[in-house]
Amino acid sequence: MNSLKEGDDHSYNNFKNVLVIINNFRINNNDAWYTSGVVLENGKRLRVKFKDFKSGDADEVFSKGNFSKHDELDEFLRRFRPVSVPVEENECSTVIEGMTAYATYKVDGSIRYFDAIVDGVCCKEHKLEKCVCTFLLCWKHGPGEGTVTAQSIVDICFIMSGAPDPRVTDFAKLVMEKLSSQSSLTPKTPFLSRKTSSNQTLNKSQVSSSVHDIFSCSL
Ligand SMILES: [Zn+2]
Repeated sequence: MNSLKEGDDHSYNNFKNVLVIINNFRINNNDAWYTSGVVLENGKRLRVKFKDFKSGDADEVFSKGNFSKHDELDEFLRRFRPVSVPVEENECSTVIEGMTAYATYKVDGSIRYFDAIVDGVCCKEHKLEKCVCTFLLCWKHGPGEGTVTAQSIVDICFIMSGAPDPRVTDFAKLVMEKLSSQSSLTPKTPFLSRKTSSNQTLNKSQVSSSVHDIFSCSL
């Protein structure tokens, strides 16, 4: 258990020795992915630290009180995933049309990372170690959302799946316990007064199954 005292230095570097798994974490306000680490403070709050921002000012800190519904927790968990792996130049044939990739996008002279769908591949003959193929990426997020750009293999990474950092899972369990205790205190709404569309019902079942999947993965 990692615990912090008030006044501790919260810079990313001070935590690198205790961070075992580094996640890609998508910051809410711009949909870009950032390499980050997480710390569960006092077993209560989840602090997300960003590799690109050395001071602790950019940290995002979450507590149980930030969540009032299961779908908020589910959306939160979707913001974490394992670090992406760059596609090697000799692996270019594995990047195929229709797949979703994690890729670099230049914004105002700096590089950001977003998800994109491979819209087309222009293969060319080349030596294994030097790919000269072109990949058309349709951006799912960020300033280029919905547009297509031509990229090279060095811009593209594989999206990795897997269980989130165990500290994220531990925090999610705390939130789930809180939400469960809340719902047991709330009187059941009569069925006829519910204004639930079929879409909302579908979303709710997806939410509960995905949260369940994450916990299953961690067992
Ligand atoms: Zn190639």
